[in-house]
Amino acid sequence: MSDDPTYDAIVLGAGAAGLMCAAEAGKRGRRVLVLERAEQPGKKILISGGGRCNFTNLDTAPDRYLSANPHFAKSALSRYTARDFLALVEAHGIAWHEKTLGQLFCDGSAKQIVAMLLAECERGRVRIACAQEIADVAQADGLFRVRTQEGTFAAPALVIATGGPSIPKMGATGFAYDLARQFGLKVVEPMPALVPLTLSGEDLLFRDLSGVATEVVAHAGKAAFREAALFTHRGLSGPAILQVSSYWRHGEAVAIDFLPGSEQDWLLATKRTAPRQTLRGALKARLPDRLATTLSERVGLDQPLAGIADAKLRAAQERLARWVFHPNGSEGFAKAEVTRGGISTAELSSKTMEAKRVPGLHAIGEAVDVTGWLGGYNFQWAWASGYAAAQAL
Ligand SMILES: Cc1cc2nc3c(=O)[nH]c(=O)nc-3n(C[C@H](O)[C@H](O)[C@H](O)COP(=O)(O)OP(=O)(O)OC[C@H]3O[C@@H](n4cnc5c(N)ncnc54)[C@H](O)[C@@H]3O)c2cc1C
Repeated sequence: MSDDPTYDAIVLGAGAAGLMCAAEAGKRGRRVLVLERAEQPGKKILISGGGRCNFTNLDTAPDRYLSANPHFAKSALSRYTARDFLALVEAHGIAWHEKTLGQLFCDGSAKQIVAMLLAECERGRVRIACAQEIADVAQADGLFRVRTQEGTFAAPALVIATGGPSIPKMGATGFAYDLARQFGLKVVEPMPALVPLTLSGEDLLFRDLSGVATEVVAHAGKAAFREAALFTHRGLSGPAILQVSSYWRHGEAVAIDFLPGSEQDWLLATKRTAPRQTLRGALKARLPDRLATTLSERVGLDQPLAGIADAKLRAAQERLARWVFHPNGSEGFAKAEVTRGGISTAELSSKTMEAKRVPGLHAIGEAVDVTGWLGGYNFQWAWASGYAAAQAL
């Protein structure tokens, strides 16, 4: 294959960010080549949102993203919004619904989102080459040269859109970081995020509750999320836990409020209105049976409320509203929905996603140190950062 710069830009990775970037650059008249290692494009999109793709969130705002520089995402997010993506979805006739908390899903299938992105790429005359093993990337004479088993492709611009290492069994790797380091860019330590947490020691007793879910407020550090938590055979999962996992650091506690929204002194009031009620009985009115039983056994006040001193009931309620777990780890990249950390935003222009020290080199999507909350925020970052880079290609 020829070494001529037949292309204006080469995008590495046909995932959410890469496809959006390629389509937009193509529609601007750029000749774009996408090189993808997998046999097909958009594999993570296909499995996202339980197969229905939670493609964006109407409440998208920069404070819903984690990054060493919390301001970095502002520019791209403001120039390509959730409404912009929704307009594209609607233009393609894809039916959608809001599930909860601003989360938008396809009524049908995530396949529709991949098909939409591929149709947009086609409009932009983008060439997508799958099953490409990238053997080598080099830069000389103003061109990036990418060597695969099919030959060497050259272009004056290169976009790193190969995502993060979460879910390695789908082929995810740290390729983006290796490439960034090759060009002298710093990488913020990648860590699993939106990931179940594991329990040990005393907390292991909660394993018996595997499968039980309830609405809680989960706290880690300064972060707090009111959503469902799920007990698993290894520890804790469910949206509330996945959300706080992104903020949790090894050695820290996670506190769970099992009584979200409860009135102050609820147990004292129950003692007055139903003195023969037990703590377990009172909890059963608010929580799943098995959880109510386990928590009341742990608190250890197994008698009618009438016989328990007010101070003890107050303390019990406080404990139930701030139950402290000490996770010993997470389920790691194997189960992490995304990766926290990545190519340092200090290396990139927030407007164009171009490396300040390597003109022509861009990085977008999950490869970059910008990580969204659960609920469509990560795709919105992929679309917005892809769009931003495309305007500069
Ligand atoms: C199970 C699951 C469900 C999810 N659900 C949602 C959801 O509903 N909503 C949401 O907002 N986010 C969701 N996410 C997160 C979301 O999928 C990612 O944030 C998003 O896909 C990141 O886009 P990206 O383009 O940066 O990376 P990816 O979509 O991962 O794309 C990277 C692409 O690069 C390719 N690649 C990797 N290495 C190479 C290489 N060496 N050479 C060539 N190509 C390479 C990969 O095969 C892949 O196609 C989910 C994640 C998982 C794992």
